[in-house]
Amino acid sequence: SNEVNAIIIMFGGSGDLAHRKLYPALFGLFQHGILKDRFAVIGTARRPWSDDHYQGVVCDSVKEAGGTDDEAIAAFSQHFYYQSHDVTDADHYVTLKKLAAKLDDQYHVGGNRLYYMAMAPTFFSTIATHLKSEALLTDTGFNRLIIEKPFGHDYDSAKALNDAITGTFKEEQIYRIDHYLGKDMAQAILALRFANPWLKAVWNKEHIKDIQITLAEAVGVEERAGYYESAGALRDMVQNHVMQLLAYLTMDEPKALTSEAIHEVKAKAFDDLHRYTEEEARQNFVRAQYAAATVDGKQVPGYREEDGVAADSMTDTFVAGKMLTDNPKLAGVPIFIRTGKRLTRKSTQVTITFKGGDGLFGTTPGDQLTVYIEPNEGYTLELNAKKLGEASTLEREWLNMRHTDQAIADAPEAYERLIGDVLAGDQTNFNHWTELAQTWRYVDVISKAWAKDQTMPTYPAGSMGPKAAFDLLKDGDHHWYWQP
Ligand code: NAP
Repeated sequence: SNEVNAIIIMFGGSGDLAHRKLYPALFGLFQHGILKDRFAVIGTARRPWSDDHYQGVVCDSVKEAGGTDDEAIAAFSQHFYYQSHDVTDADHYVTLKKLAAKLDDQYHVGGNRLYYMAMAPTFFSTIATHLKSEALLTDTGFNRLIIEKPFGHDYDSAKALNDAITGTFKEEQIYRIDHYLGKDMAQAILALRFANPWLKAVWNKEHIKDIQITLAEAVGVEERAGYYESAGALRDMVQNHVMQLLAYLTMDEPKALTSEAIHEVKAKAFDDLHRYTEEEARQNFVRAQYAAATVDGKQVPGYREEDGVAADSMTDTFVAGKMLTDNPKLAGVPIFIRTGKRLTRKSTQVTITFKGGDGLFGTTPGDQLTVYIEPNEGYTLELNAKKLGEASTLEREWLNMRHTDQAIADAPEAYERLIGDVLAGDQTNFNHWTELAQTWRYVDVISKAWAKDQTMPTYPAGSMGPKAAFDLLKDGDHHWYWQP
């Protein structure tokens, strides 16, 4: 069986992420028998909850996420224990260590520990340092760390954080979350690229005209202004999610479907990214903020009018860019990326536009292959085809495939897949430090260029960004692909 024994210590056990994502994910693993009898979860945070209260919270969280099997939910929640704990207080780690040891005996766990840092990143180094000084890591079994994003604010802070956690954990014990890597359709890019020989044969600069990545959100900043004001779209979305998709789209074929082999080609894909000077970054990247507008008959505020946002905020809520790789196979092929809040609709999608040409049928436009990552999941291949009933007149046809809502609902959610990977000791879908170092270095140049510029263009809420984001594509007759 795939059953894994573990004591899971959840820092931030009363937090939003734990409630909305992590408890339902653990329940999924429980239902699939990966967590069975020999596990316990210790939730920690400052508020003084009892075990009973905590178990009630866990039941509610699973039910709110759609769980219906009351008996299983109750049985699951019996594995949860709460320890009030201030992560800055060394004494608390001693209590935590004792409780973990006691539960380890009670559930016959055998020493395995999973530490989940699901709280504000300012605490990550403190926790890691105390786990070491109070000797929480066990000598038998595995000790694994799951760490949430954001992993740093720039290269220097990411490096400092990494130094702090690697003082306690070895690289092979660290699982840095980028939940996009847990998404089915992000993982599906690998199968698409490497399980179809004809596609492999045309995945190069001879055939590809451009690559596009769009991560569009329809929502505004919501209640996250406190965090978002210090981040912005470039740090919140480009450095991590966009970059990870970009690596999947531009990397060489890995030697095997193993974590080592995949991380090796991804690291090379980031190494191959064509580095811009600040001046080039200014020319090839566009930032903007959403402005007030009427969206679906409703007046929505502009970013600077949102609660918690400075009236003169210089935080980007939209980024578009033209990137290049120095990998000889794709050198010169523009990679257009864009992401933002308050865009026309929520969709993450990537499109490969192939080159058109002249032939028997005259000049024909290039075919386009799109992978829909969320909320739709599927593929569209748009190509030139003969019109029905005509001798040789062409029209564009769409070969469409979408996974059904039912199939999507039945598949495990990203967090369940990712925590399952950690329990199995599989690092494939997690960020290696070298990848973070490379992506931060790339993004830092853009941040620096922007910091010297006092202009902040706007776009109306409910649009697809500022005009400048469309002008980026003008050179060479490129066009954003944006079909539902
Ligand atoms: P949150 O709701 O603010 O939760 C913070 C948790 O930390 C609470 O349980 C809080 O409980 C606890 N806490 C705060 N100070 C503490 C201290 N000194 N000692 C011990 N516990 C303390 O945050 P979140 O939204 O869950 O986010 C957690 C992490 O996940 C962050 O890194 C975030 O960036 C990441 N993330 C969140 C989401 C999301 O959807 N929420 C999505 C992606 C990534 P007490 O007040 O009781 O101490």
